[in-house]
Amino acid sequence: MPIDATQAYDDQNIFAKILRGEIPCNRVYEDEFALAFHDINPQAPIHILVVPKGPYVSWDDFSAKAGDGEIAGFIRAVGHVAREQGLPAPGYRLLANIGGHGHQEVPHLHVHLFGGRQLGAMLPR
Ligand code: AMP
Repeated sequence: MPIDATQAYDDQNIFAKILRGEIPCNRVYEDEFALAFHDINPQAPIHILVVPKGPYVSWDDFSAKAGDGEIAGFIRAVGHVAREQGLPAPGYRLLANIGGHGHQEVPHLHVHLFGGRQLGAMLPR
């Protein structure tokens, strides 16, 4: 079920538990600002989630409340992961789902990084 992205941060969400090390993930990158791991239900040959370490529900929440260092660190981490995976030359897609219409399911900001095949048109019609 999609979430309401205007809700308060719930520290029992699954990505909060991954960040605290309470449940495992298949990690690909970690630094002070972000953790990246393989999506458990991949939609492309490469499907990685990048999450900021701070408690933000969505892109909207993050862009309004996070500090400049956190924002810069997160954006740089996403780019770093894409380069490390060899994605800039063939191309790839970044996606952040937000709230109900965006069909966001996990209430901790995450960017999906898709690659490894031709991804086609941006949205189904
Ligand atoms: P969204 O609809 O943007 O909130 O996407 C949530 C994503 O989290 C989905 O692609 C799920 O497959 C993925 N996901 C859920 N639980 C886990 C988990 N424990 N480890 C990795 N990915 C997960």
